[in-house]
Amino acid sequence: MIAGVRRDLFEAVGGTPLLRLSRLSAALGRTIYGKAEFLNPGGSVKDRAAKYIILDAESSGTLRPGGTIVEGTAGNTGIALALLGNQRGYTTVIVIPDDQSHEKIDLLRALGADVRVVAAAPFTNENNYYHVARRTAQTIPNAVWADQFNNAANFEGHRRSTGPEIWEQTEGELDAFVCACGTGGTFAGVSDALKERKPSLRTVVADPMGSSMYSYVKRGALDFEGDSLSEGIGIKRVTDNFTHARADDAIRIDDRAMIEMVHYLVREEGLFVGGSTGVNVAAAARVAATLPAGSAVATILCDGGARYMSRLFDPAWLAENGLTPKAKGLEFLT
Ligand code: PMP
Repeated sequence: MIAGVRRDLFEAVGGTPLLRLSRLSAALGRTIYGKAEFLNPGGSVKDRAAKYIILDAESSGTLRPGGTIVEGTAGNTGIALALLGNQRGYTTVIVIPDDQSHEKIDLLRALGADVRVVAAAPFTNENNYYHVARRTAQTIPNAVWADQFNNAANFEGHRRSTGPEIWEQTEGELDAFVCACGTGGTFAGVSDALKERKPSLRTVVADPMGSSMYSYVKRGALDFEGDSLSEGIGIKRVTDNFTHARADDAIRIDDRAMIEMVHYLVREEGLFVGGSTGVNVAAAARVAATLPAGSAVATILCDGGARYMSRLFDPAWLAENGLTPKAKGLEFLT
């Protein structure tokens, strides 16, 4: 293969830039790095999980030529599976709850996925998208259920790629890593890879309201308080992927801080990103403020803002939800 050429779409996943958020870092007197996962071919951090899940299923023989990949997803994993699946000749069946942005659902259809929208339901309900996906896979011949929540290929992909990339890009000059959990694959894989290289590095879970990872990391209990309009993050159970996490601490970020940070990032840093990135960067900034001046904190820029035009960037939606941004600077962090 000619040097510099990526052989196929799979090889174009990962190797994303690590961006210094220059104005935020200057304001804090600490460096905040964002791993630009929204620059993956499918536009999100979930390209990595999808890539490693497919490669693992191919090498174990469960996914065979002409096969079907079934997954329940908040959207990004489905987008990644559909694109990578198309490149390999697989059919993709995506089960998605109806409370996700219509941009993600429209995009899945445009990519050719067989999209099954189901009513949003709690995990304990058998009609929750996760259970529907599992049952759907059982009814289709030559189909695999990607099972991103419990499939260890998700965590492994981040442990082998995202974590080492961050370490090499910072040349080990890093004091903390902070990010939110959907499946927990990113946090678990990156925290494990970084702690292995530098045990003193601080790892902190960023948790939206309505999620139980905060209470779980703080005191081993699965409690939750309030709710959140964030998408793709927040979970009320311990996934198999999260069991590999090495978390020193957790921090809560409410929707007000998420929205203010999303709008700060586009206005001040030229970064057009989604709500989970707002949660991550707000949490990274708060963690950085607890560390000595000059410290460096890395987080994940999960996906792009275009997926949320009708929500996070729609003045009517923002007003309806009492989330119209009003900060002039970073006062919402304190
Ligand atoms: N942000 C967004 C927008 C996502 O879709 C996801 C995955 N659901 C995450 C963050 C969290 O990633 P992970 O599943 O690795 O915890």
